[in-house]
Amino acid sequence: MSSFDVVIIGSGPGGYVSAIRCAQLGFNTAIIEKYSALGGTCLNVGCIPSKALLASSHHYAEIKHFEDHGIELSGEVKVNLEKMIARKQAVVDQTSGGVKYLMDKNKITVFEGMGSFVDATHVAVAKADGTSETIEAKNIIIATGSKPSSLPFITLDKERIITSTEALKLPEVPKHLIIIGGGVIGIELGQVYLRLGAQVSVVEYMDRIIPGMDSSLSKELTKVLKKQGMKFYVSHKVKSVERAGDAVTVQAENAKGETITLEGDYALVAVGRRPYTDGLKVENAGVKMADRGQVEVNDHLQTNIPNIYAIGDVVRGAMLAHKAEEEGTMVAELIAGQKPHIDYNLIPGVVYTWPEVAAVGQTEEQLKAAGIAYKSGSFPFKALGRARASADLDGFVKILADAKTDEVLGVHMIGARTADLIAEAVVAMEYKASAEDISRMSHAHPTFAEAIKEAALAATDNRALHV
Ligand code: FAD
Repeated sequence: MSSFDVVIIGSGPGGYVSAIRCAQLGFNTAIIEKYSALGGTCLNVGCIPSKALLASSHHYAEIKHFEDHGIELSGEVKVNLEKMIARKQAVVDQTSGGVKYLMDKNKITVFEGMGSFVDATHVAVAKADGTSETIEAKNIIIATGSKPSSLPFITLDKERIITSTEALKLPEVPKHLIIIGGGVIGIELGQVYLRLGAQVSVVEYMDRIIPGMDSSLSKELTKVLKKQGMKFYVSHKVKSVERAGDAVTVQAENAKGETITLEGDYALVAVGRRPYTDGLKVENAGVKMADRGQVEVNDHLQTNIPNIYAIGDVVRGAMLAHKAEEEGTMVAELIAGQKPHIDYNLIPGVVYTWPEVAAVGQTEEQLKAAGIAYKSGSFPFKALGRARASADLDGFVKILADAKTDEVLGVHMIGARTADLIAEAVVAMEYKASAEDISRMSHAHPTFAEAIKEAALAATDNRALHV
């Protein structure tokens, strides 16, 4: 029987990063993945393919503005969806191949098959050819991720009533795509098909889209997406989703009890994701589960069985690839006897629409609820030279700082390239910067990053320069 210092179940961003860190720390490491492609949800049916389609559809949408830039097109510009999706798949395959390369480079043993606990130190791997192999491990890390969730009355046929996984490989551009759930995944995929020519309607139970983020970001994103043609039905509870042939009918009820009926040809169910432990047989190892199907862990990501850890989407907290990666690294270092730490308040959240939306730290709603006195400084992108040069005028940066100490408590931004700009806010907050600290740092001109400096100036003493 093969024996390892660490066995990791699941090769998503949590699992494969953890495997690399374990190998770097000198552990004899193995990773088990049930699919032949490594990389988990993120690389195969999540972050990477969605960003590939967002990039392709963004190019197409930009063509509308070419004339403003003095670029004249002759002839028809058409979308070849099949080719667009094939390119997306090529990006995915290459990225997954990159993970395989990293496993080989770090001498990590890869087992392809379904992993399940035999006991607290043994995992059985059921392979596609029907054989099974049991391996031994001193430490085991559960990194089995998540799967799309649905509503009890919805039958997902995966053809017309679909999840994000099918939305990444549709055979045609929908005529009318009805999206159930106005969270990050629904809105990103909605913008892809909106740009490609679909009518897109979003039905959201809460009173705003991207409800976990600062309400000012929801408001601005709604405004911009409405301008682009997306339709929203917020504060609407979906009651039924039915398919008849190629037609899909969604009925939803508003707060007044009135019912609306939407007729489309595809319905994308994007109501969240559920932790995935099917077939893992955690009970054989005595691992305790928490509510809602998560594996229960302590602050050290350790389960009730001391040599078994769990990370990423399968445990509490934000379902984000970079959160899973940080946890993967943390567990490897804990096993090595180090004392790593994650500040969950500083895990940024991003929506990769255009304009992009990004945030870190506390929202205004959270600060108000906690009774923390704060001040706020905002700066609109339209006042930046860089934004005007590239005609990316939508959005703003908002910095929230402690009213007494001036420490930055939250940064919320929507606009061009904010997915990358948010890293400056994370660094600043990690080092406990004050708004004035940021305002006194030189930011290259002309850049979108100047909006951060200006918002910091606004938060410091209402001293923004360019408004
Ligand atoms: P996963 O990536 O889900 O990986 C788990 C792996 O474990 C899978 O490969 C699975 O096959 C395997 N597995 C499960 N059970 C077993 C078993 N018993 N034996 C063997 N293998 C098993 N996050 C971001 O941060 N940024 C984004 O832009 C982003 N975009 C997204 C877009 C979409 C459409 C979706 C669906 C998700 C997106 N996410 C994004 C979320 C991100 O994909 C997840 O947070 C991330 O993949 C979680 O990583 P993980 O390692 O915990 O699990």
